[in-house]
Parts: sequence; structure tokens; C-alpha cells
Amino acid sequence: MTDIHSAPQRTDSVLEGTDSVFEVRNPGTGEIVGTVAEQTADVVAAAIAELRLRQPEWEAIGPRGRRDWLLKFQDWLIDHTEHLTDVVQSETGKPRVDAMIDPAFATDLIGYYARRAPKFLAEEHPSPHSPLARVKRLTTVYRPYPVVGVITPWNFPLAMPILDIIPALAAGAAVVLKPSEVTPLSALELARGWAEIGAPPVFTVVTGPGETGAAVVAEADFIQFTGSTATGRRIAVTCAERMIPYSLELGGKDPAIVLADADLDRAAHGIAFGGMFNSGQVCISVERVYVEAPVYDEFVAKLTKAVRGLRQGLDGRKARFDIGALANENQTRIVQRHVDEAVAAGARVLTGGKRAGFGTAFEPTVLVDVDHTMSCVKEETFGPTLPVIKVADEAEAVRLANDSPYGLSASVWTGSRERGERVARRLEAGAVNVNDVFANLFNYALPMGGWRLSGVGARWGGAQGVRKYCRQQAITAPMLPTQRKEMIWYPYSVPKLTIALGAMRAAGARGVRRFDLPGLWRLRRG
Ligand code: NAD
Repeated sequence: MTDIHSAPQRTDSVLEGTDSVFEVRNPGTGEIVGTVAEQTADVVAAAIAELRLRQPEWEAIGPRGRRDWLLKFQDWLIDHTEHLTDVVQSETGKPRVDAMIDPAFATDLIGYYARRAPKFLAEEHPSPHSPLARVKRLTTVYRPYPVVGVITPWNFPLAMPILDIIPALAAGAAVVLKPSEVTPLSALELARGWAEIGAPPVFTVVTGPGETGAAVVAEADFIQFTGSTATGRRIAVTCAERMIPYSLELGGKDPAIVLADADLDRAAHGIAFGGMFNSGQVCISVERVYVEAPVYDEFVAKLTKAVRGLRQGLDGRKARFDIGALANENQTRIVQRHVDEAVAAGARVLTGGKRAGFGTAFEPTVLVDVDHTMSCVKEETFGPTLPVIKVADEAEAVRLANDSPYGLSASVWTGSRERGERVARRLEAGAVNVNDVFANLFNYALPMGGWRLSGVGARWGGAQGVRKYCRQQAITAPMLPTQRKEMIWYPYSVPKLTIALGAMRAAGARGVRRFDLPGLWRLRRG
């Protein structure tokens, strides 16, 4: 069922130092919803230079001072939720409920990192590794990278930037955000909010296409990138040349494994949601399904029924639909190609399989009789398709699930938690949800990172989520009154060195050989 009813608003943001502008459209209606600056490399460099000047003060106010600003920003988000949802919807063509997820998710994440950052960034005094080292007080200090560049895609235009800018700001870094040129309006709202609460000017948004992103990569001190594997690879090359660290959250082709002992109703509803949420434009969408033979027919019937029952259309503020449009025409072409190539090679479409009749929208689709030679199983689709494959047993399911260059996340559906966790440990994926989808995404205490071509590094992971934006500094200081000079300083004294090196060896080694008496004797005799 399709229906077009949207009330997009227009957002215009043409900033200083701009050579040109570009239009932002609602992909569901084709309507222009904003005009945004296309910022040149010079403008980006100037913005980053300004952030570099402001960052030391932000670092100096400490994690508690920053917490207070982040919580004010959270209040601003809460106060503007309705408007922010409108903006997200206007530039994505999402159903109302999907668009509402962005501000809610953002609010939750800010609460977590704002409140916990002081603990996560607390200086540490690790125990010395050896009794000899006890003469020093050891301290690990977390000092932020001055400017973190965050580059984001279009699938969650408000939540996606928040996922990374908040931990980076909490760490004490200044942040330059380059949102997708497809959906820059929500990011600009975030910049507006940051300015409206009067926060220190350590968060800037720059807008434009890939070249604007490349300018960020050329200037910032740490790059946090989310997007395609192809772009991630280019960014990694530049970062390697500049010798700066980076973290890449890239594409995926997430498998779902349905074992014969699973609750098939839950599996069908969960996988329908996991494959179709946000029209399948989630990095951790279910993109292929492996079902044990004894329950294959029953599962496919339930899944098809669940997917066929989805309501597709364009909401206004009223939440009436489950699925909306795709983000842009390019996405629709990819989805159509994957379906067409599969059908040409013998696959059957059980529901969907074609454009939905408005804007870029594509019908929620279930494909069977598919195999690992087909693009719909091999390549990232990032659209509303669920190819389903029958497997003989758990071993074949695991083998096929691992037969992918990607390794973002996976799900296992089974009646036994132990079995689910055992299968999870055999999967080559950065996250595995047992009897659920996306659960890892809502648990910031866990790392979210892709294996293989799905990424390098991870976002979140509790303390690691802010520490990744910091350089670790080691400080040693004497615990005891100091002497005029240390035993091992110049000029060398063989007896003293014999004692010092012997003690070092004895402390580190095990067994009688640790004393190395012959060696010490040789040293004494020369
Ligand atoms: P994309 O790689 O085309 O673009 C992502 C961002 O990078 C955009 O802001 C773009 O302007 C910018 N960019 C492009 N070229 C650049 C360059 N040379 N240097 C710097 N920046 C550059 O990706 P997309 O089409 O916007 O997003 C879809 C992809 O994102 C999918 O592959 C999806 O799987 C992935 N994704 C991954 C995650 C994750 O957490 N792993 C989350 C969401 C989306």
C-alpha cells in the first residue's frame, strides 16, 4: 500500500566562504527541502584551524565541565525533538516512527557518555610490572586528539553523527563534522543547537560532497568515518600517509541463521524487522538468511507473510507506515539490479521485487532459490531485500555465513541460548545477536566494529569509546627521595650494574636460571 503525504519543511543554510550551493531533496517526493553550502578545502582548513585554537580550553574544563555542556545539549535535543524529527523525515523520506528513532537514540547516547566520561577518562595508576618498578608512581593520562574529523553517511542523518561526535567531545577533542551531502540538514540542526545553548565553539559542521570530506581528512588529527568500504579504503590511505589514526565503520552483508529449534514466529518477525527497518538501509541490516532444512518451508511462509503485511508509504507527522523511500535513486538502482540479476539466474520473488510507485521507494522483497553466485547474496544491497537459503545443518549455515568479505554483525535464532552463543563464537563478525537484531547497536557498553572489509577499529565499548579519541600519556615520578644519581647512570660501575641487571633479570624470570650467575661472573671479570 502506498500513499504520499508529507509535510517537509525547507532548511536553507548558505555559509560564508562558499563557492557554490547544492539542493537537498526529499527522496520520497522529489521536493527540494533545503539549500546548503558546498564548502571548499580552504573553508574546511580555516574551520579546523579555528577549532584547533579553541580546543585547549575545552580540554582544560575537564570531563565534568564538558559533561555539563553535553547534558545541556541533550536538553536542547529533547526540547526540539518534534522539529528534529521533521527535518530527518524531510531529507530521508522515512516513516515517522523511523525518523523518531534518531533523536531518541541521540538522547540516550548523550546521557551515557556525558555521565560516564569523567570515570572513563580518570587517570590511572597501574601496578608496576615488577617489584623493582615500585620506586616510581606510574600514571596513564588520557589526552584528546585536538581535532577529530567525523564523516557520516545518510542513513541516520541525526543519530549517526551523534554516535561519534559526543564521545569525541566528551574526550575533550574539538569536532568537525562532514555529513553526507544527501542529508546535511539534520547535522546543521545539531550545529545550531550547540550554538544556541552557548557551548564553547568546538563543534563545527562543514557541508559538501566527497571533496569536502577529503579536506577534513587532510587536516584533522583523527578520522572517524562511517560509510562505504570503497571510501573507507581511500581515507585509510590518506591517514596512513599523514600518520594519523582512524576508525572505519564500513559496509556489511549480515547473515541471519535460523536453526531448527528456533521460535519460528519470533525469527520471522525479527528478521522481517532486521531486513526492512529503514528500508534496509542500516549497516547491520539482515542481508541474507540461512535456514535449516526441516523448518525452511514453515519459516519462509511466516517470513513472507510478515513482509507482505508491511505498510509502505510517506508519512507526514502521523505515523501510519512501516516503510518509506530509499535515500536516493542510486540506492534504488542497486536494489533493482540485485533483484533482477537473481531472477535472471533462477531466483523466485515471493513478495515485492519492484519499485513501490513513489519517489525512490522499493517494495519489501523476499527472494528464494538464491545462492552464493548471485549479487543479492554476495554484495551489500542496503535495501529492502531478504534472500533466503536452505541449509542442511548448523555447520553449513556457519560455513556460508562466513563466506563473505564482510564481517559486521550477524544473528542466530535458536531455542537454546547456549547453542546460540556457541554458534556466535564460530562466526566471523564484530557482533552477534542471539534471537534478536540490532541489539548490539543499543548497548554502548559493547564495542561496535566490523571485521574484515566491514571496518577497522570500533566505536563505543564503554570506556574505550572515549579513550579512542585520546592519546595515552605515560608519566613516571619518583616515590622515594632521589639520590645524586642512579646506579646505572654514567660512569658505569661494573659491580653496581651487576647488581642492577641481576636484580632485573631475577625479578622478570622464573626458576634458578634467573640468577644467571655465570653471566654475572663474566661481566665482573670482563
Ligand atoms: P559513502 O562512502 O559514499 O559516503 C560516506 C561519507 O563519506 C559521505 O559524507 C561522503 O560525502 C564522504 N566521502 C565520500 N568520498 C570521500 C573522500 N574521498 N574522503 C572523505 N569523505 C568522503 O557512503 P554512503 O553511500 O553515504 O553510505 C552508505 C554506506 O555506509 C554503506 O556501505 C553502509 O554499509 C555504510 N554504513 C556503515 C555503518 C557502520 O557503522 N558500519 C553505518 C551506516 C552506514
